[in-house]
Amino acid sequence: MSIQGVHLIAGEEIEGEGTLRAINPVSGLELEPTFAEATAENIDVAVLAALSVHESRSASDPEQRARLLEAAAERIEALGSEITARGMQETGLPQARFEGERGRTCHQLRLFASVVREGPFQKPVIETALPDRQPIPRPDLRLGMRAIGPVAVFGACNFPLAFGVAGGDTASAWAAGCPVVAKGHPAHPGVCELVGRALQDAVRDVGFPAGMFSLLQGESFDVGTQLVQHPGIRAVAFTGSRAGGIALWRLARDREVPVDVFAEMGSANPVFVLPEAMQTRRQEIAEGLAASVRLGVGQFCTCPGIVVIVSDENASAFRDELSQSLCSEPAGTMLHLGIQQGYRDAVEQLVTRGGVEVIERGPPGDGSCAAGASLLRVDFASFIADPAMQSEVFGPGALLVECNSPEEFLEVARVLEGQLTATVHASEEELSQMKPLLHLLEDRAGRLVFNSFPTGVEVGEAMQHGGPWPATTDSRWTSVGSAAMDRFLRPVCWQGFPDGALPDELRTGASGMRRIDGHWQESGNS
Ligand code: NAP
Repeated sequence: MSIQGVHLIAGEEIEGEGTLRAINPVSGLELEPTFAEATAENIDVAVLAALSVHESRSASDPEQRARLLEAAAERIEALGSEITARGMQETGLPQARFEGERGRTCHQLRLFASVVREGPFQKPVIETALPDRQPIPRPDLRLGMRAIGPVAVFGACNFPLAFGVAGGDTASAWAAGCPVVAKGHPAHPGVCELVGRALQDAVRDVGFPAGMFSLLQGESFDVGTQLVQHPGIRAVAFTGSRAGGIALWRLARDREVPVDVFAEMGSANPVFVLPEAMQTRRQEIAEGLAASVRLGVGQFCTCPGIVVIVSDENASAFRDELSQSLCSEPAGTMLHLGIQQGYRDAVEQLVTRGGVEVIERGPPGDGSCAAGASLLRVDFASFIADPAMQSEVFGPGALLVECNSPEEFLEVARVLEGQLTATVHASEEELSQMKPLLHLLEDRAGRLVFNSFPTGVEVGEAMQHGGPWPATTDSRWTSVGSAAMDRFLRPVCWQGFPDGALPDELRTGASGMRRIDGHWQESGNS
C-alpha cells in the first residue's frame, strides 16, 4: 500500500495542494510524499457525509459496529511491516515500541467491539405506565443512550497509533455509533494515511456508508479550526498539548451552537515519597522513578515531572541515586524538532524561577532531535509560591520539591492544579496516617497510584485517564478504557411510544440488563 499524500474523504482519495512533508527525527531528512492541506470544501464534504450517516441512523446496529471495530483491528494488523517501517521513519520510535503500540491499538478496538456486543453502555431504564396513579397518571417512560453525531478527532504526536487516527477516540466514537472525521497529525502524516486507509477499508468491509470515516491532512491550524467550527460536528476528541486543547475548547464554546471538546492534555503527575518508604526502599524508588521519567524519552502525558520528598537524612543519597539513574544514560531521540525545542525551553524556563537549582543534566546527544535528561530541585516555600513550576515539562525532566516535613506535603497537594495522576510511596501505616493527603490528591487527580509509577496506562473497564482542569477540559470523562464511549452518547427519553417505534433495547421483552420500575433485571418483561 503506497502513501499518496491525499485526504481520505468518505471513501474517496482526494488530492490537493500543500507543502507538508514528514521529517525523520533521527536523520533530519524530509520524507516523500508531500501531503495536501485540507480546504474548507474538503472539510465541508467530510462533515456533511458524516452527518448524513448520523441522520440516517445507518450506524445504529450495535452488532455491525462491533464488526466494524474488529475489521479495523484486522486491517491495521494486515498493514504488516509497512506501517512499522514508516512509523519508525516518521517518529524515531524503536520497532518494539511501535509494534507494542499497534497491539494496544488493536486491543482497544476489540475491547470496544465486546462492549458494544454486551450492551451495558445502553443503560436502558424503563418506567411503565401507571394509568391509575393519583393524583395524575404516569406515562410510559423509556430512557436510552443515543449517538451524539459526527465527532472530530485530533491525535497527539507521542502515540501515533494508540492516540492517533484509529486510537481510543475513534474507537470509542465508533463504538457509540458516531461517524468520525479525523485530523491527521503533521508530525506523522504517512502513518495517518496508512491507518486511515485501513479504516476506510474496514468501513467498506462491513457495509457501512463511506461517511462513517474521513481523514483530513494539514499542517496549519486552519484545518483544525475550521473542522471544530463546522456546524455538523457534534463533539471534539482531542489528545495533545494544553495550548492546542484549550484553543480548540474556546473555539467550540464560542460557536453559535457550542459543542464539547474532550481535550486530554498533559500534567506533571506528582509523586510523593513519604519518609518510611524513603528509608526502606530509597534506591528502588530512585531507580523506578528514573525509568518512568526516561521511558519514551519522557514523552508520555503520565511522565512523573514533580517528585516531593522530605529533606531528611535520606534526601541527599536519594538525590544522588536519582540523578545517577536518570542522567547517566545517553540522550534519546525526541519525536520532532518542535517537541525537542519545547522540552529545552521548558527546562530553561524552570531554571529561571526563584529557588530552582539544577542537580544534573544528562549528555545532550548529537542527533537532530536528541535530548538528555534533567534533574532540578526546589525548596517547599519557593514551589508553593510559584504556580508556573507546575507546568508540564514534556520530556525526560523532573523537579524535586524538598519539604521540611510530611505535613508540608499537604500544602504542596493543596496548591496543585488538576493532574492526570498522583502517586504516593508510603508504608501502609504511613498511608493510614496521611488520609488528608489522599483526600487532597483524590480531588486533584483522575488516577491515584500507590507504591508504583504512573507511566503505563492499562486499557480496561476500571481505568480513568482524565483529571481536573487543566489536565483535561472535563474531569468527568476518560479517554482510555471502555468508559471513553460515554463521551459520545446522550440520553433520550421516549414517552408513550408504541413498542415497534422504540429502539430495540427499550422494547418490551428485550434481552440484557435493564432497570425496570426500580429494579435491575437481566431480561426484560415489561
Ligand atoms: P499538539 O501540538 O497540541 O497537537 C495535537 C493535534 O492538535 C495536532 O493535530 C495539531 O495540529 C492540533 N492542534 C494543536 N493546536 C491547535 C490549534 N491551536 N488549532 C488547531 N489545531 C491544533 O500536541 P502534541 O505535541 O502532538 O502532543 C504532545 C502533548 O500531548 C503533550 O503535552 C502530552 O502530555 C499530551 N498528551 C496527552 C495525552 C492524554 O491522554 N492526556 C496523551 C498523549 C499526549 P497542528 O500541529 O497542525 O497544529
